[in-house]
Amino acid sequence: MDHEDNQTNRRMRLRGKIAIVTGAASGIGRASAITFAREGARVTAVDIDEQHGIKTVEEILADGGEAIFERTDVANEPDVKKMVQGAITRWGKIDILFNNAGIVLAKPLEDTTEEEWDRLISINLKAAFLAIKHVVPHMRRSGGGAILNTGSIGSMVGQVGTPVYSASKGAIALLTKSLALDYGRDGIRVNCLCPGITDTPMLRDHLGHGAQGEARIRDRLSRVPLGAILKPEDVAQAALYLVSDDAIGITGIMHVVDGGLLAAAEFNAPV
Ligand code: NAD
Repeated sequence: MDHEDNQTNRRMRLRGKIAIVTGAASGIGRASAITFAREGARVTAVDIDEQHGIKTVEEILADGGEAIFERTDVANEPDVKKMVQGAITRWGKIDILFNNAGIVLAKPLEDTTEEEWDRLISINLKAAFLAIKHVVPHMRRSGGGAILNTGSIGSMVGQVGTPVYSASKGAIALLTKSLALDYGRDGIRVNCLCPGITDTPMLRDHLGHGAQGEARIRDRLSRVPLGAILKPEDVAQAALYLVSDDAIGITGIMHVVDGGLLAAAEFNAPV
């Protein structure tokens, strides 16, 4: 049965659902937490950045939604256990897990230290393992759920200058597919969202600020058929679809949201 927002008669796509969103203080995670709440989900917004994470929750509450903030280092198992327990204590179940927190490292492999490798792989890959490990028993008990991992266009093709980041994003793709097989019979769908060039603090930090950053973005966009930088809200709409019952038949996929960037080996923008 479709649920409706009483005030607008709008169908709310996540009414009655409980969602955990990691990396919710910024960028794609923030936009997704807000979008999920607007669609009726009650949200545990998770981040290591308490100040901005609380802001996301305040925005949801001001919008009439329901959310709590859980300060969590997603790469730390005791923190992740606390995050999951906090969601269960507060909401009673977990229907949606969006493993989205991530960091980037733009460094040649030979200059990368072991500590940098470990930190990136911990946040971009181990964190998904930990959250899924502790959330799945609850999903199984309540008859199913939807897990979404954030990959990247770098989950499918190589990327210049970010070898460790690309390795983490490639691995998350096959973790997703394998878990879709393992948990399908439990009614748990597992998918991977692969954004392209999205205007978030991560992208700006990665490409640089000011005129140089703008020039780099313009250069990248010349290879994007739709020609525009994605907003975090654009990516959040795809996340919403994948975690909602609209995607009920979908598991084990890589869902690309990239303005067409991966569609061609070569692309010349029309002049
Ligand atoms: P962002 O930097 O705006 O947000 C990332 C969030 O993750 C931040 O709030 C940060 O505090 C949080 N975080 C980092 N380490 C954490 C930890 N240990 N524990 C808890 N939270 C932590 O970045 P974004 O662009 O919104 O990125 C979100 C996801 O999208 C990432 O996985 C990223 O790799 C992926 N992605 C982004 C782009 C892009 O162009 N922006 C493209 C492809 C993929």
